[in-house]
Amino acid sequence: MTERLYYTDARLTEFTARVTEVSGDRVYLDRTAFYPTSGGQLFDVGTLGDARVIDVIDEKERIVHVFEKAARVAAGDEIKGRVDWTRRFDHMQQHTGQHLLSAVFDELFGHKTVSVHFGDESATLDLDTAILSKERVQKAERRANEIVFENRPITVAFEDAAAAKGLRKEVERTGELRIVSIDGIDRSACGGTHVRGTGEIGPVVVRRIEKYKQSTRVEFLCGWRALARARADFEALSAMAGSLTAAIDEVPALVAAQAAHLKEAETDARKRGEELAKYQARERYDATVPDAEGIRRITETATSMDPLRAMAQAIVLLPKAIYVGTVASPPGIVFAAAADSGASAGELLKAALSANGGRGGGSPRIAQGTVPDVAALQRVLTSLG
Ligand SMILES: [Zn+2]
Repeated sequence: MTERLYYTDARLTEFTARVTEVSGDRVYLDRTAFYPTSGGQLFDVGTLGDARVIDVIDEKERIVHVFEKAARVAAGDEIKGRVDWTRRFDHMQQHTGQHLLSAVFDELFGHKTVSVHFGDESATLDLDTAILSKERVQKAERRANEIVFENRPITVAFEDAAAAKGLRKEVERTGELRIVSIDGIDRSACGGTHVRGTGEIGPVVVRRIEKYKQSTRVEFLCGWRALARARADFEALSAMAGSLTAAIDEVPALVAAQAAHLKEAETDARKRGEELAKYQARERYDATVPDAEGIRRITETATSMDPLRAMAQAIVLLPKAIYVGTVASPPGIVFAAAADSGASAGELLKAALSANGGRGGGSPRIAQGTVPDVAALQRVLTSLG
């Protein structure tokens, strides 16, 4: 049985313990301040003697400390432990912040927390509601921060499950419970580590809200993480504002205006492209000598299909015109035939393509397709005459 020093002192970072068992890189102690991953809260890191502890696992009766390398300690040795406080305090802020946020969502709207997840970047809690409005999110965020500013005490007590009343979440377990209370708003059975007062949670910031199955997933940041995120957001917005030569508060409207402007410019460019294709089509048409039946056959190659399609659309409007545009890589073809040419582009190209392992088709006026290789493309061209 490992004595869990963090149960009664969440701020203990240095301790002395006796090694009870060693197995490769796994070390057991008679007592520890290292928190193992459990109840959603992540494990601590730190050192035991001169070795780095890279994982801590809860085996119910005992706690395993996983060393970076094979442990050079033996059962019976006395060892000094040191817990990485920066990481632990961050976990305490997120974890206690989750108690507070869950309690607030329950108090204000009756939304129960059905599950929680703590990651290295952010934490989430899932509420038992499929719909959560922005107004409710803001109200809950505001209420949580009010309680942070009130710096209410957070206490730990051990109570018998049968006698423990007013818990936010029912507990099925019997026997002694470790109950964590935030004065006046929350009583929860929890084995995790918590800060001493709500003020130590620091700012509580709700970020993304997303529907998750029948519940709503709420992403949030507390304490130092919230501050780091605010700093990163500011730097990102400042860079955007700088490139727009504007103030940060003007950025959303300016970006929206620029997006609208870009869309207009693209429409305009497409129209001009079509106009240009008409002139180029006429030029190519005039420079092509008609055959005995008056058909003008215009061929072209390009590096992509887009300009060929634009040209085909313009040329097909000219009398007795046939157009063949090709791309070598990946091998493709655009085939167009004017209404008075006597040819159906779709039918002719489809037949030529399917005879050569290609795919495609189109209308009687314009068709396009692809073939597996350049040799097949050559055969398609030959069969189209
Ligand atoms: Zn807790």
